[in-house]
Parts: sequence; C-alpha cells; structure tokens
Amino acid sequence: MATAPLLLITGASRGIGAATARLAAAQGWEVAINYAHDEAAADAVADAVRALGQRALTLCADVADEGQVRAMFATLDRHARDGGGSLAGLVNNAGVVDVAARLDEMSGVRLQRMLAINVFGTLVCAREAVRRMSTRHGGTGGAIVNLSSAAARLGAPSQYVDYAAAKGAVDSFTVGLAREVAGEGVRVNAVRPGIIDTEIHASGGQPDRARRLAPTVPMQRPGSADEVAQAIAWLLSPAASYTTGAIVDVTGGR
Ligand code: NAP
Repeated sequence: MATAPLLLITGASRGIGAATARLAAAQGWEVAINYAHDEAAADAVADAVRALGQRALTLCADVADEGQVRAMFATLDRHARDGGGSLAGLVNNAGVVDVAARLDEMSGVRLQRMLAINVFGTLVCAREAVRRMSTRHGGTGGAIVNLSSAAARLGAPSQYVDYAAAKGAVDSFTVGLAREVAGEGVRVNAVRPGIIDTEIHASGGQPDRARRLAPTVPMQRPGSADEVAQAIAWLLSPAASYTTGAIVDVTGGR
C-alpha cells in the first residue's frame, strides 16, 4: 500500500488545528500534530486521526524557538526515512492573542511574544517546509496554508492591534512566498477566519467573546473550527491546484 502524504499542522492540540487534523485524516493525509504545552490534548487528536485509519505522530515544539522547530522537522525527516510519509503539506496554525489593551498599555515582552509566535513561527516553519518540499531542493512539491485573521484588515483597535499587525504580516508573507516558490511545485495560501468559537478567546481573557460578538457578524453567529478546516483542507488538496497566493476569508461576511 502506498504511503499517505504527511501533513504537519502547528498548534493542532485543539481548536482549528485539531479540526483540520481530523478532516485531513478523513481525506487521506497522515498527520503530524504539533503542540507547545498540552500533550494529553495532542495525544487525543492523534487517537482521532488513527481512528480514521491514518498514521499520526505528535511533536512538542514552540514555533517561536528556531532550535525546537529545526528539531521537529528533523524528526519528520527520520520518520520519512523509517517508512512514514514524506512532508507534502504544512498548516501554519499555531497562534496566540493576548488580553484586550491599547498599544500604549502593552509591554515590550507582550509585543515580542506576539510577533515571535505569530510571525517568526510562521516564517521559520514555512522555511523548513520549503527546504523539503520545493523541487529546487530535490522535493516533490507541496502546499502551505497560513492562518491569518480578519483582524489583519480590521486592525482590532483597543483589542489587540499587535495581533492584527502580526496577521497582516502573515498576509504579506503568504503573497510573497507564494510567488517565490510558484515555479517549484509549492503552493502557498492563507485562510483568514473571523470570529470562530474556540478556546483562543478564553486565552485572551474573554471566554464569551465569540457569543458576545455574534450580532456584529452579518451571518449573526460565530463560525466553527470545522468550518475553517474545510477551507484549509480545500487549499491543501489537488482541487486547489491552480490556487496560490490567495487569502480566503472565512468570516460569515464580517
Ligand atoms: P486555540 O484554540 O487557542 O489553539 C491554539 C493552538 O496553538 C493550541 O493547539 C496551542 O497548543 C498552540 N500553540 C500556542 N502557542 C504555540 C507555540 N508557541 N508553539 C506551538 N503551538 C502553539 O486557537 P484557534 O482559535 O484554534 O486558532 C488557530 C489559528 O487561527 C491561530 O493562528 C489564530 O490566530 C487563528 N484565528 C483564530 C480565530 C478565532 O476566532 N478562533 C480567528 C482568526 C484567526 P498548546 O495549548 O499545547 O500550547
């Protein structure tokens, strides 16, 4: 039996990343589940992938730490040499918000963390993926999907302009990298979710944010992680073979 292609999803222990892992497994991907803290949650996602008949592995690494990212990709290289799938997809999903604040109230430590995880983490994971998937490096091609946010175009004033700016960088990076590697078999796209019902809002001190802001959404409801996963899975799939450099809004019209 042919080996399934391998998809690495960063921040896949819960939320959008976990939903993407389950959907990708159902669509035939072997899935590598990255997480930073919650090993038990990552293991549960891996069990769900296996229950769908695909292989799964869990990888603890802070995407903001270049050494840990390099070690994670080295583990994937060994995995492929040992008969596992070769890397053919990356979902740059790991991301954080912080508590609502104005810029003039934000500490430098907060700003550094926001950019380190959301921007540096995205770039360094994409770099390692391109080094493996690009035909320029002897690879056979692949697809990268970056998680942006509607905040990139709304700016998130008095909430988190730092997060919005980081996601704006993700949009620019998506367009630039897509054009850089378009002739090397690698497609690069982004999904820009709106208000999605996940635990990210609790981590920003607003557990009821998705429900509270529902009336501001033209569709009058938050989205689900599964609805975002559908867009990610399409961009990863051969059905999106002529789509690169695209930024797909999944926002209920927001
Ligand atoms: P979430 O529920 O808070 O999950 C975040 C995931 O990222 C967790 O698995 C977490 O794992 C992991 N993570 C956090 N810091 C990490 C790090 N330094 N290195 C590796 N993994 C890390 O978030 P979500 O709502 O699913 O959001 C996923 C993506 O969509 C993010 O990029 C977010 O900015 C974007 N997005 C979300 C929304 C929304 O409304 N939910 C809207 C727009 C965009 P551990 O717990 O193990 O650390």
